[in-house]
Amino acid sequence: MQASVTLKAGKERPLLRRHPWVYSNAIDHFDGKVYPGATVQVLAHDGSFIAKGLYSPASQIRVRILSWDEKKTIDHAFFKGRIAKAISHRQQWVKNTNAIRLIFGESDGLPGLIVDQYADTLVCQFLFVGMEHWKEAIVQALIKETNCQRIVERSDAAVRSREGLEPHTGILFGDQPEEPIQINECGVLYSVDVMHGHKTGFYIDQRDSRDLLGQMSKDKEVLNMFCYTGGFSLAALKGGAKHVTSVDSSGEALAMAQKQMSQNNFDASRATWIDSDAFNVLTQFRKEEKQFDVIVLDPPKFAPSSHHLDKALRAYKEINRAGMQLLKPGGLLFTFSCSGAVDAALFEKTIATASAEAMTHSNDKTMDFKLIKRLSSGADHPLLTSFPEGDYLKGLLLQRL
Ligand code: SAH
Repeated sequence: MQASVTLKAGKERPLLRRHPWVYSNAIDHFDGKVYPGATVQVLAHDGSFIAKGLYSPASQIRVRILSWDEKKTIDHAFFKGRIAKAISHRQQWVKNTNAIRLIFGESDGLPGLIVDQYADTLVCQFLFVGMEHWKEAIVQALIKETNCQRIVERSDAAVRSREGLEPHTGILFGDQPEEPIQINECGVLYSVDVMHGHKTGFYIDQRDSRDLLGQMSKDKEVLNMFCYTGGFSLAALKGGAKHVTSVDSSGEALAMAQKQMSQNNFDASRATWIDSDAFNVLTQFRKEEKQFDVIVLDPPKFAPSSHHLDKALRAYKEINRAGMQLLKPGGLLFTFSCSGAVDAALFEKTIATASAEAMTHSNDKTMDFKLIKRLSSGADHPLLTSFPEGDYLKGLLLQRL
């Protein structure tokens, strides 16, 4: 008999609306043999079938749902099928790049699994013990479905500790890359350090915004704060920016960004790279009365969880107010938050406060802003309507009047 988990009365409601997580406080009892990664049937209090999922004893999210179909068997073929389906979605929707998020966790019916493709290299994150349990099946399916040359594991994201899992990195298939992987996104060449870079090496999720920035950059003075390896900076240069100033506190990321200038045949004089604290640089530029046509603010996750919310909102407000004060009339601000704990409405409210303060603090009555567009990740980060937690990246494109 398959193991099962029976929910407390009334706790089936989110699941009936297809929310794919069972929290520990929703559970009444278990029957049968459960172990980390075990397949369990999820039953309502009256014993009726709701879903099948994988069990994680250490996590507050005790079961993550794989299927709502009672007849579905969770086996190698199941994972192969889900992976094939995720890849065919990308083939339909994602063009002009060989850097693609192939698997986006819950959105692709594979909770806690991230797979990013960089040319012929795949980088995986197993962020949930259920996916860890099926790792071998997943790796075999990825090899078959993608014909990749190598698979790297970067399961070193902080969220693993909430699952009771240690960080783990290494090579799952093929050899270890000697050099960063070269990718081509919309005609721009980028280098991706899949072994040591942030997350899986590159911010694939900003592709659409990089593209839009490129289109808006011709002959412009651009400032890219928190530039990492220069994703937005290179897109702006490709789009014809007159000059791009980029700031980050990681010397390594900046060194990598600079190397890519010559790969793209960009004249080094069109870019300035500043290794410094972003908050200090913004203050300094204000003192020097510097002005830009286009500014990008894409900071790290200021709110890793809801406990950090107040401090994070102050930081978002501060950098945005400071950024707005450096914009020329008619200038554009691309501003982002990748904090899951800050939802879209809260982010917009924070930006509205920042713009009000930009005006009052500078005593400049002409400093008004309009919202041109809401920005988000691309079609390789689809969102389930039943799973708002998937929507972590919010962006706004504002224009100074
Ligand atoms: N915009 C980037 C991703 C940003 S990730 C892209 O599209 O690729 C956040 C970056 O902020 C990291 O590179 C990190 O080194 C940098 N960072 C974090 N705190 C910083 C600070 N106080 N000042 C400057 N850079 C900072």
